Amino acid sequence: MTYVGRFAPSPTGLLHAGSLVAALASWLDARAHGGRWLVRIEDVDRPRCVPGADRVILAQLAAFGLVPDEPPVWQSARDAQYEAALAQLVAEGWAYPCGCTRADIAQALAQCGLTRERHGDLVYPGTCRAGLHGKPARAMRLLATPSIGVTAAPLLIDWHDRRLGAQHQNVSAAVGDFVLKRADGLWAYQLAVVVDDASQGVTHVVRGEDLADNTPRQIHLQRVLGLPTPRYLHTPLVPGADGEKLSKQNGATPVAAEDPLAALRTAGTVLGIDAAGDNAPAWLADAASTWCARWRDR
Ligand code: GLU
Repeated sequence: MTYVGRFAPSPTGLLHAGSLVAALASWLDARAHGGRWLVRIEDVDRPRCVPGADRVILAQLAAFGLVPDEPPVWQSARDAQYEAALAQLVAEGWAYPCGCTRADIAQALAQCGLTRERHGDLVYPGTCRAGLHGKPARAMRLLATPSIGVTAAPLLIDWHDRRLGAQHQNVSAAVGDFVLKRADGLWAYQLAVVVDDASQGVTHVVRGEDLADNTPRQIHLQRVLGLPTPRYLHTPLVPGADGEKLSKQNGATPVAAEDPLAALRTAGTVLGIDAAGDNAPAWLADAASTWCARWRDR
């Protein structure tokens, strides 16, 4: 097998202690497998991107000795690929236009006595599956059902995470038909990540555990697009001051590139790696052999 791994930062801020853990784990896993390690700048959500953050992230990674094996890819340059995938899904009946506003969705849910919400997103009740009924199209959604035309059967995805073990999600109940292209015309993370992982030949995804519950949606998308499913490993998260996942909102500060060894050691602790080495390259080499012994065959 030719191992291809990747780190896929969103340049909505700089690399912080939490994102360094994901970068380090994906790099170590690629090295442990004798594979290639890529970096993809996930700048699809343009309004949230901080100008120049992409270049700073690449420089921060380089300061830690985490240098991609190929030039980085920017999602903002890949609209044509996402458009082609969406066209395929529309042609095959998997994707459909949705004219609902958030208020429409809340109202439809309330009418059936439901107030299902997940991470601030309402579980879509499928209102526009049967057509727009005169409403202007806003977003494009993917059917979350096992086959085209089936509305009653739930989409059940069983998958395996290398660290978390057996995983299961009823995608229909948990999220419903999900957005591929947003009402503001921007591509949704789910579509862009699936198209890019496949086109870059990514065989192993190593990323933070906060993204684990996106994986069933991505596996469904891979299946309906006829793309391979990579192996997944979701890493432990770094808690912020409030105990939630570390983010800009709860105190994440950019990792200090002046002392790469200290930052790598801290990230290693989160991953249970206690490596030796009195400089960053030596520490990384030792961490890679520890990682290899622990994760290579899992
Ligand atoms: N761009 C996503 C983030 O920064 C990561 C996507 C992924 O690794 O699949 O949270």
